[in-house]
Amino acid sequence: MRLVEHFIGSGSAGGGERRGDVYDPSSGRIQAQVVLGTAAVLEQAVAAARAAQPRWAATNPQRRARVLFRFKELIEREMEPLARLIASEHGKVVADAKGDIQRGLEVIEFCCGIPHVLKGEYTEGAGPGIDVYSMRQPIGIGAGITPFNFPAMIPMWMCGPALATGNAFILKPSERDPSVPVRLAELFLEAGLPEGVFQVVHGDKEMVDAILDHPAINAVSFVGSSDIAQYVYSRGVAAGKRVQAMGGAKNHGIVMPDADMDQVVRDLCGGAFGSAGERCMALPVAVPVGEETAERLREALIPAIRALRVGVSTDPDAHYGPVVNAAHKSRVENWIQTAVDEGAELVVDGRGLTLQGHEDGFFVGPTLLDRVTTDMTSYREEIFGPVLQIVRAPDFETALRLPSEHQYGNGVALFTRNGHAAREFAQRVNVGMVGINVPIPVPVAYHSFGGWKRSGFGDHNQHGVEGVRFWTRVKTVTQRWPDGAADLPRGSEDGGPSRLADAFVIPTMN
Ligand code: NAD
Repeated sequence: MRLVEHFIGSGSAGGGERRGDVYDPSSGRIQAQVVLGTAAVLEQAVAAARAAQPRWAATNPQRRARVLFRFKELIEREMEPLARLIASEHGKVVADAKGDIQRGLEVIEFCCGIPHVLKGEYTEGAGPGIDVYSMRQPIGIGAGITPFNFPAMIPMWMCGPALATGNAFILKPSERDPSVPVRLAELFLEAGLPEGVFQVVHGDKEMVDAILDHPAINAVSFVGSSDIAQYVYSRGVAAGKRVQAMGGAKNHGIVMPDADMDQVVRDLCGGAFGSAGERCMALPVAVPVGEETAERLREALIPAIRALRVGVSTDPDAHYGPVVNAAHKSRVENWIQTAVDEGAELVVDGRGLTLQGHEDGFFVGPTLLDRVTTDMTSYREEIFGPVLQIVRAPDFETALRLPSEHQYGNGVALFTRNGHAAREFAQRVNVGMVGINVPIPVPVAYHSFGGWKRSGFGDHNQHGVEGVRFWTRVKTVTQRWPDGAADLPRGSEDGGPSRLADAFVIPTMN
């Protein structure tokens, strides 16, 4: 059986006696095993990173950008096999897997402009003969811990700015679809990145804890579920690290009475069921405003949902594929039952779906629940499956309150033709990323990605200028060059203390 190994220094490395199974979710069969590493494996990666990072940091930013350019070209060359590898381990359809890669590549493209973004600030004449400038320096060695649902995009969100700014980066990808991250490491090497600058260590909690506790790792970027995000944030910060930790989500799509219903139905189907609902920017809650809107929406959704095609990840006509594993399939199906038990109306039931010839695949059919209310646990928690819940709101204010008061605050969408309502909504909603007639408002690479409340712990968002800030520290230099080398500080006009006593007072510039 194929074994997925760590990538340390310049190539594959074993290490760790435990193994994890890697499934093909379309067939339900185990297709590979991944080594689950230990603190000793991490130690090897840190040693290689330590050896490589100072030189990489000293490489001028334009040369670093050239490596990223070459990496981008290599990924484009490999798009098809990489997408198929993602599809085979994750279960998303190939076209969607290409989107996963493409959105990550856009972050790499942004990072190709790093020389411009890294320019610091300068103040001439901040005091007599005094100039002040600031620069952004790498934090040293950083780690990324990533979820299963975007095995290419999310590692690239992190490693793009981390590498461009001169850090060494150690990736701990999800153990459920670990192969593409290793390909990224191989392609980085081919692109000319020095050994030890981008490495991959596999594992589960044991490896994550080793990363969080390692004194040489200065920053940790995490994306995953909220409880683990909070744990990673707290433990990492307690160990003195800079940590950004993105968590789960429950994104609402508010449908105003004046919305274009055809567009809403298309967008809700794509947003709720695309990638089997396994996206943190999925749209699993529809909030029609007013009973009449609710009825129209429901009537339009039912046939659209019944027409969706669920298929194996290589089926070019499938709208979406299986969920990631058997445990997740039963978890999603249990949530559907919980919603029914809590009093929701099951309008379309996707449980018990099997595909001929793929009877052991982890498929869940599209599911629609109506009359879901805010006290139901199935509303309060993330389901992360192909399940759309309708929560009816009597008016705009109630609809605005729903996402604002929810424990998660990742994304939200408003469907309307009313510019004033859209503006009000965007300004007042208590959520990090807002779409106006855009169902999945994932910001482009040169803006930044981040949710609020339990969807994001820490101060910096992913990618864009925020990503550059996360992966760098600011150093500010205040300098004075006296007139004549032997002329050491003479008087206050030169910016130096005029009397010995003045040297003991905090200096001011004016
Ligand atoms: P997960 O939290 O199970 O795993 C994420 C990472 O944490 C993995 O690398 C995993 O190995 C590690 N991990 C798992 N259990 C751990 C533990 N007990 N201690 C330490 N580390 C542990 O998440 P997942 O199931 O892989 O991904 C789905 C989740 O990620 C969903 O909740 C989804 O909303 C969220 N997500 C959020 C964003 C975002 O940007 N906010 C993006 C994508 C996914």
